Amino acid sequence: MSDKFDVAIVGAGPSGSAAALTLAKAGLSVVVFERGEFPGSKNMFGGVLYTPILEKLVPNFWEEAPLERHIVKRRFGLFSEFSEAAFEFRCEDFNQKPPFNQSFSALRAQFDPWLAKKAEDAGALIIPETVVDDLLWKDGKVIGVKARREGGEIEADVVILADGVNSFLAKKSGLRKDFTWNVLAVAAKEIIALPRGTIEDRFGLEGDEGLAMECFGDVVAGTVGAGFIYTNKETLSVGVACSINAFIDKKIVPNDLLERFKNHPSIRRLIRGGETLEYAGHMIPEGGHKQVPEVISDGLLLVGDAAHFVNASFYHEGTNLAMASGLFAAETIIEAKKKDDFSQRGLKGYLKKLEESFVLKDLKKYRQVEDWAHKNGRFFKEYPDLMLDVLKDYFTVSETPKSVIQQNIVKKLRSQLKPLRTLVELNRFRKSFFSS
Ligand SMILES: Cc1cc2nc3c(=O)[nH]c(=O)nc-3n(C[C@H](O)[C@H](O)[C@H](O)COP(=O)(O)OP(=O)(O)OC[C@H]3O[C@@H](n4cnc5c(N)ncnc54)[C@H](O)[C@@H]3O)c2cc1C
Repeated sequence: MSDKFDVAIVGAGPSGSAAALTLAKAGLSVVVFERGEFPGSKNMFGGVLYTPILEKLVPNFWEEAPLERHIVKRRFGLFSEFSEAAFEFRCEDFNQKPPFNQSFSALRAQFDPWLAKKAEDAGALIIPETVVDDLLWKDGKVIGVKARREGGEIEADVVILADGVNSFLAKKSGLRKDFTWNVLAVAAKEIIALPRGTIEDRFGLEGDEGLAMECFGDVVAGTVGAGFIYTNKETLSVGVACSINAFIDKKIVPNDLLERFKNHPSIRRLIRGGETLEYAGHMIPEGGHKQVPEVISDGLLLVGDAAHFVNASFYHEGTNLAMASGLFAAETIIEAKKKDDFSQRGLKGYLKKLEESFVLKDLKKYRQVEDWAHKNGRFFKEYPDLMLDVLKDYFTVSETPKSVIQQNIVKKLRSQLKPLRTLVELNRFRKSFFSS
């Protein structure tokens, strides 16, 4: 192995491989260190892979990428202990031709190796089973990485940290501070096998159509978080993701919450008879725009989850931002190489690209969502419970005249809702999700 590269990348997730592919296509020498046995072996997500950037990286990716189903249906459910009210959106326009609505269910143990192989085919050197422990420095500038293997001190003009949410290298570099608990979520997920036909019947799908389902309220003990089901071809991705604070406050562990979710009467019939093939846990950086650290220093760039690029609003979008930041970092380095300037100043085009794209624009738009969620816990427990209780009253069949039922509902709402507080909270919701 050469001991000097143009670029060294830590991590072969979507952000690292997107950067490696772009750099290698431009003829730069690139080495990628991945601690897993193979790229993707340690990675998990929900998950819906959002693909507008992937299409730029690999045109016609759908012809060869290991994708599961294209998402045509989104379902958002509110749950109390025994009831569910849901909003479901299905659109035939999302079912026409590839790349459909640029959203596909996928399994990371298959997708990540495929994207890394694309980078390798373009000329990047991918080194699995190798942890990078430290950065190499000279005169205050990063000049390479120290990998945990013989001869592991590798020099590079630039290092890209694509090492995910736990990036301790970003902390060592001084770019990122320690996260507080309330900006991290923890997820537990199972992959549950069911026959293809059963999945299609239970979720109302045909062929390779897919559904993304998110569930709030009692299914996740009323915590700031959600349960999810994403349909794959012959498996379901079933999990829960909640703020770490919520787990601490409720004294509950992720696995117990996942069991609670799976056992809700509305959920257990969807997964009935399935065989659990895998179980995994992972963290999600959900702090949004306020938590985005400095992303450039001399000879160093941060991409993907290491830079906190996750849009945790209704979209739960991380992969697209990861690949976009990897692409922008690579394009910036390609420009910097022409001037042979890898200083913070020479790399500042990266920040400009992020600011002009959906990456920072979207994070900025939803910058209040995390605070809103933590300060308005009633939206995750009291309000869903009340709404479902009222719906139950409304639809319960009896000899009581409908006018009396409705008067009782109004009384119940009056006694349980404080109008002013509710208005203020609804206004906060509007501002957090719908204002620019
Ligand atoms: C439960 C859950 C559900 C999610 N759902 C969705 C979803 O539905 N849609 C969506 O778009 N996003 C989703 N996300 C977010 C998405 O998974 C991430 O935003 C995305 O994977 C970030 O990519 P990345 O390349 O930056 O980091 P990662 O995918 O975390 O990759 C980092 C890589 O670096 C390697 N690594 C780490 N440290 C080192 C080291 N020191 N040396 C060498 N290698 C190292 C790791 O092994 C890993 O391969 C979800 C995340 C979770 C946890």
